[in-house]
Amino acid sequence: MRRLVIVGGGIAGLATAYYAQQAAAEHDLPLAITLVEREAHLGGKIVTDRPDGFVIEGGPDSFITQKPWALQLCRELGLEERLIGTNDARKAVYVLRGGRLRRMPEGLLLVVPTQFRPFLTSRLISWRGKLRMGLDWVIPPRRDPADESLADFIRRRLGQEALDVLAEPMMAGIHVADAERLSIQATFPRFVEIERRYGSLIRGMLAARRARAKAPRANGHGKTTVFMTLRGGLAELVDALERALHAEIVIGQAVSGLERTHDGYTLTLSGGRTLIADAVVLATPAYAAAELLRPLDADLAARLETIRYVSTATVSLGYAVADFPHPLDGFGYVVPRSESSRLLACTWTSTKFPQRAAPQSVLLRAFVGGPRDEALAALDEDALVALVREELARTLGVQAEPTVARVFRWRRANPQYDVGHLERVAALEAACPPGLYLTGSAYRGVGIPDCVKQGQATARAVVTRLGA
Ligand SMILES: Cc1cc2nc3c(=O)[nH]c(=O)nc-3n(C[C@H](O)[C@H](O)[C@H](O)COP(=O)(O)OP(=O)(O)OC[C@H]3O[C@@H](n4cnc5c(N)ncnc54)[C@H](O)[C@@H]3O)c2cc1C
Repeated sequence: MRRLVIVGGGIAGLATAYYAQQAAAEHDLPLAITLVEREAHLGGKIVTDRPDGFVIEGGPDSFITQKPWALQLCRELGLEERLIGTNDARKAVYVLRGGRLRRMPEGLLLVVPTQFRPFLTSRLISWRGKLRMGLDWVIPPRRDPADESLADFIRRRLGQEALDVLAEPMMAGIHVADAERLSIQATFPRFVEIERRYGSLIRGMLAARRARAKAPRANGHGKTTVFMTLRGGLAELVDALERALHAEIVIGQAVSGLERTHDGYTLTLSGGRTLIADAVVLATPAYAAAELLRPLDADLAARLETIRYVSTATVSLGYAVADFPHPLDGFGYVVPRSESSRLLACTWTSTKFPQRAAPQSVLLRAFVGGPRDEALAALDEDALVALVREELARTLGVQAEPTVARVFRWRRANPQYDVGHLERVAALEAACPPGLYLTGSAYRGVGIPDCVKQGQATARAVVTRLGA
C-alpha cells in the first residue's frame, strides 16, 4: 500500500484527492490517501452561508465554464441537476464613472469591442478613447516573447483610457491585483496568443465570435452560461467531493512539521499525531507551504515567499425589495481606481443568479480592500457594513436597514501573479524534492477551474510516480 498525504482541504486539495483516488483505481495501485485541513471545515475559500432563505457566498460565487474543469467535475459528481446559470436576460454590467453608473456597451469581451454600434454610442468612453482603442486594428504585434504587465499590454494595444475604465477594474479586479504588476502571460494568456496570431485583439475576438456562432450547439446538457454555480451555493461542490472520497479526512488540525526520510516523508500534525507518506501534496497558500518547507530547503521556502498575497473582504447585504429604490438591472458594477468610492466592485447577486435572495428580497455583495486599500479589509465587521452602506447610499440611493448582513474578511487570500510568475513557478516546481508537489491557487491559475485542473495534473503525477 502506498501512502499519499495532501495538506490543505480547499478545492485544489480536494480535487487532488478525488483524481488521485480515480487514477489509482485505474492503475490498480493500492493507495491510502489522508487529507489534512487546519480549519474545522473543508473548502478553504469556498464558504456558503444560508441565513433566512438567502444563499450567501463568502468567497467565490461561481466558476467560469470556458475553462471546463470545474463544470466537468460537478457533472462527474452527479451535480448536473444542481447547476444553475446566470440570468443572461439581465446581464448588463456597469462602471462607476464620475460617481454615476454607466452601462458597459454590449459586445464587449472583457475589454475588447466586438459589436461596433453599442461601442460607438456608449457614453462610458470618450471619443478620443474609442479612437485609440480602434488603433488596435493597425498597431503591429509585439515580437518580444518576454512577459509584461496587464497595464503595459492594454496601454500598448488599446490605450490608457481602456486600461483605466475597463481593464483595471474588470481584468485586474478578477485577480484582485495591481494591473501595473500583474503578469499578462499568467492571467490572460489568450490575449497574448490572440495578439501573436491575429496581430490585433479586435480582429482575434471577432474571429473567435464567428467560430463560436458556427460551432454545433448543446450536448444534451442544460444551458451552459459563461459563469455557473450550484443551487445551494458552491459549498455543494465541497460536500459532494467529501462524499465521493474514500480518503481519511482530518479536519481541525494543521500539519506543523515535515521531514524527509530515506524513502518518503514524515508529517507531524498539531494534535501530535505523525503520518508517514510516500508522496506529499502541499495544497496550501504559498506562504504556508514555505513554513513547512523551510527546515528542508530554506532557499525553496524563501522563493515560495516571493509570491505576494493581498487581503480583501466581501460584505453581503440583503434588503426587502420594497425598500430598494434601484432596479438592480444588471449583474453589478466595477469601480475604476480614479473614483472616490471605497468599493472595488459590487455584484447584484439576486439579479445575476436565481434563488439567491429570500422571497421579496434582493441580495448584493460588495468587495473591499485588495491592492488599492488593504487596510479596509482589516476593519471590524460593523465598520465594514457601515462603509458599504454609505457607498450604496451614494451610488444606488438605498437608505433602508438591510434585513441580512454577512461579512467575510479574507486575510492574505489573493495570490499576486506578478510579471514573470510562470517562470518562477516552473523553477519552484523543478526545485521540489522528489515525491513532493505544490498545487493550488498560488501557482497556475486562481479560479476554481484552474485549481481543479491543477489537482488533476498533480494527482496524475503522484500516481505515475508511486506506480512506477
Ligand atoms: C473573496 C473571493 C472571491 C473569489 N471569487 C471567485 C469566483 O467567483 N470564481 C472563482 O473561480 N474563483 C474565485 N476566487 C478564487 C478561488 O476561490 C480561490 O483561488 C480557490 O478557492 C483557492 O483554492 P485553493 O484550494 O488553492 O486554496 P484555499 O481555498 O486557500 O485552501 C487551502 C487550504 O489549506 C489549509 N491550510 C493552510 N495551511 C495548512 C496547514 N499547515 N495544515 C493543514 N491545512 C492547511 C487552509 O486552511 C485552506 O483551507 C475568489 C477568492 C476570494 C478570496
